[in-house]
Amino acid sequence: MIRLTNLRLPLRHDDQALPAAIPPRLGVDPAEVLDWQVARRGHDARGRGRIALVYSVDVTLRDEAAVLARLSGDGDVRPAPDTRYRAPVSAPPGEARQRPVVIGAGPCGLFAALILAQAGFRPIVLERGKVVRERTKDTWGLWRRSVLVPESNVQFGEGGAGTFSDGKLYSRIKDPRHLNRKVLEEFVAAGAPADILTEAHPHIGTFRLVTMVETMRASIEALGGEYRFSTRVDGLHLEPDAQGVRRVRGLHLHDGSYLAAEHVVLAVGHSARDTFAMLVEAGVHAEAKPFSLGVRIEHPQSWIDRARFGDDAGHPVLGAAEYHISHHCSNGRTV
Ligand SMILES: Cc1cc2nc3c(=O)[nH]c(=O)nc-3n(C[C@H](O)[C@H](O)[C@H](O)COP(=O)(O)OP(=O)(O)OC[C@H]3O[C@@H](n4cnc5c(N)ncnc54)[C@H](O)[C@@H]3O)c2cc1C
Repeated sequence: MIRLTNLRLPLRHDDQALPAAIPPRLGVDPAEVLDWQVARRGHDARGRGRIALVYSVDVTLRDEAAVLARLSGDGDVRPAPDTRYRAPVSAPPGEARQRPVVIGAGPCGLFAALILAQAGFRPIVLERGKVVRERTKDTWGLWRRSVLVPESNVQFGEGGAGTFSDGKLYSRIKDPRHLNRKVLEEFVAAGAPADILTEAHPHIGTFRLVTMVETMRASIEALGGEYRFSTRVDGLHLEPDAQGVRRVRGLHLHDGSYLAAEHVVLAVGHSARDTFAMLVEAGVHAEAKPFSLGVRIEHPQSWIDRARFGDDAGHPVLGAAEYHISHHCSNGRTV
C-alpha cells in the first residue's frame, strides 16, 4: 500500500472527486488502483473563500514498486506505514502467577489495564475515586453547589483528569510508532465516532466520554480484569532482591489492608500530591516537570468559526474552528 499525502481538493467537492484525483497524481491509469481509503483529512483555511480539504490516502496499486521507484523523489508518495499494534508480550497459558496491579483509572491506567487484559494478564485496577457516573455527580456538586468530595472530583475518579473536557485527541498524533492508532481504535470500539481515525484534529465530545470509559471497563472485566474503586494506595512495600535491588512486593491500602503485588503500574496522574509524597518517602526517584499553565479563554464558537472560515462557517466538514495564541518571550522562547 502507498500513502499519498497532501492531496488538496476544494471544500465543496463531490464524492467522486477524491478517487478521481488519485490516478493522475500518481501518474497511473485508473484501472491500476485496486483500493483506496482516507488515512487523514484536514483543512487549510488560510485562504478566505478558498478553503481546501487536505487528504492523506492509502492506495493499493497493481504495481506499487514501479510507482514508488518512479516517484522516489516525491515527498508525498511513500510506502504506507504499518500502524497495527502488536502487544510486546502475552501471558503464558495456565501458569500460576501474581496479577499485575494498575494504580489509577485515568487514561494511562485505563490503557495499561486494557493492554494487560488483552494480553491475558487479568490486571487489578485500584482507583481512589468512584465509578465515573457517581464521580460525575460529585463533580457537578462542586461546580453547582460548591461541595468538594476530596476523593471524587474533577481530578480523582474513574476516567481521570480530563473526563469532563471535550476530549481533544492531539497527543502523540505524530508518534512515529503509531501507538496512538491503537488508542483511537479502542476509543472507536468503545463508542467514539469513527471519524477520529481520519480527522487531523480529532475530538470525542464530552458527553460520550463517560459511556466510553464504562464500556472500556466492561471490556477489561470481560477479559478477567478487576476494578476496586474508593481504594487509595497509601504505601509501597519494597524489599531488596538477591542482588540488593529494592523490588515492590505489595501495596498498603487506605483502609489498612495489604495487597501482595510484584508488578505495579503507577498511573496516578498529575494531581495526587499525597501519593507523590508517599513515593518520594519510599525512595522512588521523582523529578519535577517543567512548569506548565493552562488558560481557559471563552468566546462564542460562532465568532471563532466566522473569523477563521468566513462565509464557510458552519460547513459540516469543517466543524468547530480552532486557533492558537502564541507569545514570543524575551528569552527567545515561544509559548
Ligand atoms: C479540565 C481538563 C481538561 C483536559 N482536556 C484534555 C483534552 O481535551 N485532551 C487531552 O489530551 N488532555 C486533556 N487534559 C489532560 C489529561 O486529562 C491528562 O493528561 C490525563 O488525564 C493524564 O492521564 P493519567 O492517567 O496520567 O492521569 P489522571 O487522568 O490524573 O489519572 C490518575 C488517576 O489515578 C488516581 N489516583 C491517584 N493517586 C492514587 C492512589 N494513591 N491510589 C489510587 N488511585 C490513585 C486518580 O484518582 C486518577 O483517577 C485535560 C485535563 C483537565 C484537568
